[in-house]
Amino acid sequence: MRSFHHINAKSLAEARSAMAAGDATLIAGGTEVLGLLKDNILPAYPATLINLKSIPGLDYIVRDQSGALRIGALTRLSDIAVSPIVNRDYTALAQAASRVATPHVREMGTIGGNIAQLHRCWYFRKPENRFHCIRKAGDRCFAMMGDNRYHSIFGSVDKCIAVNPGDTASALIALNARIVTTARTVDAEHFWDVKVPGNTVLAPGEIIREIELPALPSGAKSAFIKFAIRKTIDFPIVNCAVMVGGGSPRICLNAVAPKPYRAGKAEAAIAGKTINEAVAEAAGAAAVEDARPLQASRYKVQIAKTLVKRALLATV
Ligand SMILES: Cc1cc2nc3c(=O)[nH]c(=O)nc-3n(C[C@H](O)[C@H](O)[C@H](O)COP(=O)(O)OP(=O)(O)OC[C@H]3O[C@@H](n4cnc5c(N)ncnc54)[C@H](O)[C@@H]3O)c2cc1C
Repeated sequence: MRSFHHINAKSLAEARSAMAAGDATLIAGGTEVLGLLKDNILPAYPATLINLKSIPGLDYIVRDQSGALRIGALTRLSDIAVSPIVNRDYTALAQAASRVATPHVREMGTIGGNIAQLHRCWYFRKPENRFHCIRKAGDRCFAMMGDNRYHSIFGSVDKCIAVNPGDTASALIALNARIVTTARTVDAEHFWDVKVPGNTVLAPGEIIREIELPALPSGAKSAFIKFAIRKTIDFPIVNCAVMVGGGSPRICLNAVAPKPYRAGKAEAAIAGKTINEAVAEAAGAAAVEDARPLQASRYKVQIAKTLVKRALLATV
């Protein structure tokens, strides 16, 4: 690991002005960013890490007057996983948080860091920055011609097929959440709408303040399911979050594309219907209608289909 300066920011304003000075990276729980630095994964190495954990008051789960639930960006995943209000009203998010990595990572990892994490692709993340891929301003995607068993089944963005691996991302989209930053509020659905090499719409120096979960209509239920090779400490091969019963259904998959994939055809297949085995099965099939897997990633299509079905049945 190379040396770097470390600033304990005392406020978001201080963190922003330190970022504006350039050549700096934010650190929250550090579970992702320290790995990137230790393994020397990225072409550029920051001169400064700006610690957000030293900013008071960014760790909370509170209901506001409008009935929305607000979760501070520095709230640990372990706290979200056990929160009674999140478990009761936003079940998919509690389930997603509880399935991230291990207790150690969930104790350190924050919701802000979870949604801002970089893409997963073993070429992109190869230590010592070995593969100068498209995501690193290179001219080719090594996964496209190489081993793409964990890659996108819904095409590429700018010819990159690395996936967004976040577990909470699909839950936040299914629950119609909004991401509040130091500059604006963005629907979760559009938070990951970016071109390579971006991973989120955050501009340089823009900091996530909180997640806003709207009050849900009565009768709304949600669920999250994740398939990973190991039961603990593993990124998703596919995950799926659904919300049904309170207006239009929302179904989102992740780890299947460069950004979370809203399964619109599956939503249309179940709109206005009571969830049962046959309806859930049809939704699973509709969800993967547009899948275009590569040679090694075909198995993911069946997993995505099955997760949609199981997540829907979990709400019954
Ligand atoms: C062994 C291991 C297993 C993992 N398994 C999973 C898994 O199964 N599922 C999953 O979803 N993730 C997984 N992760 C990824 C990730 O570490 C965690 O998801 C964690 O939530 C990241 O949060 P953090 O606070 O530690 O982020 P950090 O490492 O501190 O930061 C991550 C990124 O987010 C940026 N960032 C942090 N906070 C903010 C903010 N408030 N505003 C703007 N940018 C910010 C940082 O600059 C950095 O780029 C795993 C990580 C490890 C090491």
